[in-house]
Amino acid sequence: MSKIIYFDNASTTPIYKVVKKKILKCFKKYGNYSSFNYLGNEMREYLDKKIYKFSKIIFCNPNNIIWTSCATESNNIIIYSLLRFYKQIKVICISTEHASIINCLLFFKKEIKIIYINPDKNGNINKNFFLKKIIIEKPLAVFSMYINNETGIINDIKYICKICRKYKVFLHIDCSQIVGKIKFKIDRIKASSLTFSSHKCHGPKGIGFLYFDNKLRNILSPIIIGGGQQNNFRSGTIPVHQIIGLYKSFQITIKNFKKNIKNINFFNKKIISNLKDSHVDYNVIGKKKVPHIINVSFKNINNDLLILNLKKIIVSKGSACNLNHNSYVLKSMGYSDKYINSSIRISFGNKNNVFEVNEFNKKIISTIRKLLL
Ligand code: PLP
Repeated sequence: MSKIIYFDNASTTPIYKVVKKKILKCFKKYGNYSSFNYLGNEMREYLDKKIYKFSKIIFCNPNNIIWTSCATESNNIIIYSLLRFYKQIKVICISTEHASIINCLLFFKKEIKIIYINPDKNGNINKNFFLKKIIIEKPLAVFSMYINNETGIINDIKYICKICRKYKVFLHIDCSQIVGKIKFKIDRIKASSLTFSSHKCHGPKGIGFLYFDNKLRNILSPIIIGGGQQNNFRSGTIPVHQIIGLYKSFQITIKNFKKNIKNINFFNKKIISNLKDSHVDYNVIGKKKVPHIINVSFKNINNDLLILNLKKIIVSKGSACNLNHNSYVLKSMGYSDKYINSSIRISFGNKNNVFEVNEFNKKIISTIRKLLL
């Protein structure tokens, strides 16, 4: 087997060919979006139209988008903004949040009191406990991602939104993993702010955006300061080709949602039934989850050795943003180090096919048997 089989799509995805083409085409236009001259005006007209179209496919107001370099930046902007405005803050953070939330909050530990909520082993938070914390602690904001990047578990966003609205608490939702995994309309997600990234759905790396509700408009402040682009929310020359790449990748992913979900469900079932039939001792985390991510632990198997032996079949130990550390996500859900050291994440994208799944199925069982000897 010489071809790479890529099952690490939760960390990043290969770019769609069409997206790459669109990006390259953009380089023919080189004017600065913010310049007042013929080329700048042409660029603004071109991109503004595209952004308007984009806002229609994700159901939002284009004036409430801040283009950023990635989801990490979008997440950081919210924390910085709340802190600058309120000086000392108290927040609730689900303990399975991405490092770009948790580490940013911890960076300001003198100014931010963090109340963690640990989900159970299935990834569910205790609703009563959450409600109690909101009532008693009166936090300024809640941080909860929509779909967890290590387990694929879907958080109960509807409930969290409802409570946050009722008690007038800001709610930031990291939506980095949702595009192509669930159907969504931004105007239906009743949160204060949302984070998105392009490279999780076959778009280019280096571009994402923050969507914000109007009640945050006077609270948001920039972390990149300069020429005042994007209404002063984020300075720096607008990367037109990147935005076009993001738009196109979202458009293709959303358009092909049904077909891709069907395929990925099939891949998921094929892998699980292969594990069942082979009688290896394994456990898959989560019930209410997307089929794109399988977090599986194999009894008495070291995950580093497993990954090395799988060679060109690319899976991971969890988040790429937590390299060299045991998964704090699984730990906070109550899993032991022994369990975590035996777990891998298999994550599918829209470019995977059934031949790759068949190849994986053969290889995983033979590798586990070899490692158990
Ligand atoms: N949030 C979540 C849920 C993620 O899965 C990731 C990517 O690993 C990020 C944030 C960070 O994304 P980016 O690489 O765009 O900063």
